[in-house]
Amino acid sequence: MIQFQQVSKAYRGGRQALQKVNFELPKGDMALLTGHSGAGKSTLLKLICAIERPSDGHIYFNGHDISRLPRQDIPFLRRHLGIIFQDHKLLMDATVFENVALPLRIEQQSDNEIKKRVSAALDKVGLLDKARCNPIQLSGGEQQRVGIARAVVNRPQVLLADEPTGNLDAALSAQIMELFRLFNQVGVTILMATHDTSLLEQYNHLRRFDLQHGSLAEVGHG
Ligand code: ADP
Ligand code: ADP
Repeated sequence: MIQFQQVSKAYRGGRQALQKVNFELPKGDMALLTGHSGAGKSTLLKLICAIERPSDGHIYFNGHDISRLPRQDIPFLRRHLGIIFQDHKLLMDATVFENVALPLRIEQQSDNEIKKRVSAALDKVGLLDKARCNPIQLSGGEQQRVGIARAVVNRPQVLLADEPTGNLDAALSAQIMELFRLFNQVGVTILMATHDTSLLEQYNHLRRFDLQHGSLAEVGHG
């Protein structure tokens, strides 16, 4: 589903974030991306959604080479991807409903369709009763779940998550992992960056890609 072939990324100023990275994430898999801070995890995720472009090598999504995808085709790629950030990037002056609706508004879906799909997404993360709240009124764990609802609202094939449990305690992290597991069970492919070592122990049956100073090794396979 996602394949990297000899992918390197150097940022302007010469910082080499990734070096000749090769990996393949099969469709339907749930995998962890590990490595110390600065190892290149965020960069790798950003390359998949074309927020950043590789300096060298090829990235395939569903067999399409997206490494040099023309700018006007990026929305087509993003339609297949749900992206979850550690700081959830929610709009604090909009309701939970509107935050989750955002990707559908961009796709110019009808109000009816938006209502149906946002309700379904909020129901999945257990926040239907918070639809009219502002994110600012919610706890950290609830805010993260709003971010997850927004990421899954347009039914993406792939979920990319960058340290989604980074600011949460163990119980809330377990909740988030359980949500991911449920999405994975219905066929969503998941790649999650984390350096949470307690999570790694608990989920050591998952495929795991480990980045060290921009180089990748696969260390387990579910
Ligand atoms: P991680 O997510 O594992 O912490 P990152 O992918 O954020 O790692 O960073 C990898 C390396 O690339 C680091 O050395 C970081 O400083 C550098 N880097 C990340 N983003 C940029 C950027 N926009 N410009 C320059 N260097 C960057
Ligand atoms: P699909 O595989 O969805 O049936 P096609 O193979 O007919 O799509 O491709 C239609 C156009 O959309 C092509 O230009 C292709 O490059 C682009 N495209 C299709 N799927 C993706 C994707 N996941 N990421 C990027 N571009 C895509």
